[in-house]
Amino acid sequence: MGETLLSIGEALALVLGRVQPLPAEDVPLAQAAGRVLAEDARATVDLPPFPASAMDGYAVRSADLPGPLTIVDRSAAGRPASRTLTGGEAIEISTGAVVPDGADTVVPIEHIRESDGTVEGDPTAAGQNVRPRGGDLMEGATVITAGTRLGAAHIGALAAAGIASVRCGRAPRVAVAVTGTELRAPGDPLARGEIYDANGSILETQLRSAGAVVERLPPTEDDAAATRATIERGLYADVLLTTGGVSVGVHDLVRAAEAELGVEEIFWRVSMRPGKPIAFGVRGATLVFGLPGNPVSTLVAFELFVRPALLALQGVAAPAPPFLPGVLGRPTRQVERDSLLRARLRVDGDAVVLDPLVGQESHMIAQTATADTLVLIPSGSGELPAGSAVRYLTL
Ligand code: AMP
Ligand code: MG
Repeated sequence: MGETLLSIGEALALVLGRVQPLPAEDVPLAQAAGRVLAEDARATVDLPPFPASAMDGYAVRSADLPGPLTIVDRSAAGRPASRTLTGGEAIEISTGAVVPDGADTVVPIEHIRESDGTVEGDPTAAGQNVRPRGGDLMEGATVITAGTRLGAAHIGALAAAGIASVRCGRAPRVAVAVTGTELRAPGDPLARGEIYDANGSILETQLRSAGAVVERLPPTEDDAAATRATIERGLYADVLLTTGGVSVGVHDLVRAAEAELGVEEIFWRVSMRPGKPIAFGVRGATLVFGLPGNPVSTLVAFELFVRPALLALQGVAAPAPPFLPGVLGRPTRQVERDSLLRARLRVDGDAVVLDPLVGQESHMIAQTATADTLVLIPSGSGELPAGSAVRYLTL
């Protein structure tokens, strides 16, 4: 046909170019998992806040070793010794307790011989087994930088640094509409010609994992007025996702309805397989994705375009899909478009090996459910031999 379709990279750049990050709001730390930091978060204390022992043992002056030294006090976590240490003395200490003033080292219990209120210890250099005040981070320093999506270690670092709430990009509101007269809800009886709606469930799951607040719109028949009404209802959202009805058939009504409602189409169709008929447009600040009807196409198009858009809306610094390097486990034919094959990952020695599944058709959601990765096979007319370097995305 000679038509030149956008590449995946070009299409993604067009999507990200239309993203206006959502305003920031205060989020209590307990609700901040998965949210994206809008400003650098700074430590309210030195970390650790005091010189702390890394071992159970005795705090001493290194110059006094091996002793014998008189045990004069104890320092436990949360219960510091009541006195400072002077020459010839030892203070029993536990992990995480304050190293008393006057002591410069901690001799671990394994290197101590105790008798009668005194200890002898093996030679231990100054500073050994002592976690210096501020050794992890200084007060006022950045704990986590803006643009970070918060996981367990981030939340833990913020808590350790005394931060009770953080500024985060607002969670995107996303409306989801599946279109197709043939669709029924799982659990309902199926008449001849009908199928269960998989896309609504796929998208809701992906959206939650991307930090979105989801509204499912009522399933919509292939009827122009109904399609228009549903899309109109969803245009309040930050992002509107439709599935189905974006191909070239007479029942593909989504793009026409969007045009009537003032959605500016940015692109339609991308050189990819599956997912080629994807449409993307904007109305005001609302991003409008017309995802293809086949469930695997919807799932793949979400990962390539919608998830990055959602992350960018929340302020993620690097929202593009995180493709990683691996090698093909078996020979794989190229096609005229970049294809994203469903595959299973295995580790062989030092290599990450990707085995494309046998059932690669875009309606095969059940086959896809056995995959853990998408392998990007660049367009071409040859066959990539086993061992070829490829890039993959974890599902
Ligand atoms: P369409 O793009 O509307 O022509 O849909 C392409 C294919 O995907 C058709 O076989 C549809 O029946 C199927 N399909 C569309 N929407 C869904 C859905 N929500 N769940 C499962 N399959 C769907
Ligand atoms: Mg349809």
